[in-house]
Amino acid sequence: MAKVRVDKTLCIGCGACWALAPQVFEEDPSTFKSRIKEPYRKVDNENESAGEIPEELVSDAKTAAEGCPTGAITVE
Ligand code: SF4
Repeated sequence: MAKVRVDKTLCIGCGACWALAPQVFEEDPSTFKSRIKEPYRKVDNENESAGEIPEELVSDAKTAAEGCPTGAITVE
């Protein structure tokens, strides 16, 4: 398992993360920003969306983190 987090104060809703890692991220229809998908989402508020993902999704999540233009995603 790995922890993944989107800093919504940095997210600009560009869509790169849910294109690169569609099993981990999705667009929040109310804010147009990224959030962690169910069933991995543990926290979701106006400042952040965070959760835990299984090992098989860590590579995709890291690719999304590298592709995020604002550095809003952390994977650890
Ligand atoms: Fe937001 Fe970054 Fe995802 Fe773009 S790639 S939607 S800026 S978290």
